[in-house]
Amino acid sequence: MSLTAELCAYASDLGLDWVGVTSPFPVPGLAFYTAWIEQGYHGEMTYLARPDRLERRADPAKILPGVRSLISVGVNYYSGRFPAALEDDPARGRISRYAWGSDYHAWLLPRLEALGAFLEQASGHLVAWRAYVDTGPILERAYAAQAGLGFIGKNTCLIQPRAGSWLFLGELLTDLALDPTLVEASGGCGICTRCLAACPTGALVAPYTLDARRCISYLTIELKGPIPPALRPLLGNHIYGCDRCQEVCPWQRFAVPTAEPAFRTADATYAVPLLLDLLRLDADAFEAQYRGSALHRIGRGRLLRNVAVALGNWRAPEALPGLIAALRDAEPLVRGHAAWAVGRIGGAEACRALQVALSSEPDPSVQQELRAALLMI
Ligand code: SF4
Ligand code: SF4
Repeated sequence: MSLTAELCAYASDLGLDWVGVTSPFPVPGLAFYTAWIEQGYHGEMTYLARPDRLERRADPAKILPGVRSLISVGVNYYSGRFPAALEDDPARGRISRYAWGSDYHAWLLPRLEALGAFLEQASGHLVAWRAYVDTGPILERAYAAQAGLGFIGKNTCLIQPRAGSWLFLGELLTDLALDPTLVEASGGCGICTRCLAACPTGALVAPYTLDARRCISYLTIELKGPIPPALRPLLGNHIYGCDRCQEVCPWQRFAVPTAEPAFRTADATYAVPLLLDLLRLDADAFEAQYRGSALHRIGRGRLLRNVAVALGNWRAPEALPGLIAALRDAEPLVRGHAAWAVGRIGGAEACRALQVALSSEPDPSVQQELRAALLMI
């Protein structure tokens, strides 16, 4: 049995659903990525455009000197669906399904490290390796495709032809020269353009090209400051990420529920929570509810910002008391977006609440939101 075959068998024992080995050179997809950065499509994720990071992305030997192989792994996180009546209920928030279970970084990294340790043990000598989950300067989807895990769709996701695109990816770089895995002919998009048509914000500006600045995943997770007012109505009830361009993909018909309990959905109160319940979360309740989950990384302020936008899109008067209370929130980001939502609901009570808040609001950016909200009424 070759070392690559032993490695694949061990990866399967670790619960990894797909594994492939490829050469790190030449770096696949580099020209496309560089052009994407030059267009500014990365928005405020300025770390992606840092020269040192671009250099390392262009040359994996700068990440791991002497690197000769890249191992790409994937794990299925699909855990089924909730009834559309719940997911489309404007009183509830939608959370991207990758965040329904435990934080996958904490699940995947130790398994990649176990693969590194396995290589040392199986090869019988010292082996250099480095593991990455999501955060490394590695074009992970391009490498995953090259290693045979699937193909990149027009929605920019890696699609596994027998399982769809609900998979987490990770990589292990090593200085061992491993045999590459055989790459079977895989699927593709053909003439389909469903994902481009389904995107609520027009973020897929061309096949395979995402303008992150318009993407709901970027706006609700990566963006730290205010969400541009013009885009807020397009967010609907998405409060953490968006799966729309994956849900409509015909390849998802092959998705099967994950075997990994850590990624199975807790319950509807977590995956499609009531917005007004979330608006009441104080700092302690947020910690208690989201510690250990992917959602924890955006913090209470950004979550409540997103919740306020979703409530503004619901436009139900019953949301007014909670939103008016949020006009006094400790975080300006929350106060500003609550003001927008109050303005969207409108009416005499909303108008009075905005005027009262404006009379004592110390933050200039929130004052601006309050004035804009008053103009909406
Ligand atoms: Fe559009 Fe949502 Fe896909 Fe982003 S995640 S490209 S907003 S459909
Ligand atoms: Fe490709 Fe169609 Fe899936 Fe988009 S929806 S990724 S175009 S197959």
